[in-house]
Amino acid sequence: MVVPVEITDHRLSGVLEITWSDGQHSRLHHALLREQCRCAACEQQRRHGSGIPRPDPTLRLERVEPVGEHGLNLAFSDGHDRGIYPWAYLRELSAL
Ligand SMILES: [Zn+2]
Repeated sequence: MVVPVEITDHRLSGVLEITWSDGQHSRLHHALLREQCRCAACEQQRRHGSGIPRPDPTLRLERVEPVGEHGLNLAFSDGHDRGIYPWAYLRELSAL
């Protein structure tokens, strides 16, 4: 399994940078991460509505917390803090 060896939050540019155990780098914009949140509330909004409004590009990550060995819990400056991002999902997002 590919796991991060280094995670750097570039707050000024709004980019979460991940270096993976296979040597790849991901640069994930905070607004993209917010937009792709897969928590129950966001999934429901996606299924029943017009989707998640495109986040303001000035939106920032407020907190990055590990969830056991398998992912991150991300909290955003709009107050949303329920998203769990497993490693495999973060890898998927870096291909967008
Ligand atoms: Zn969410």
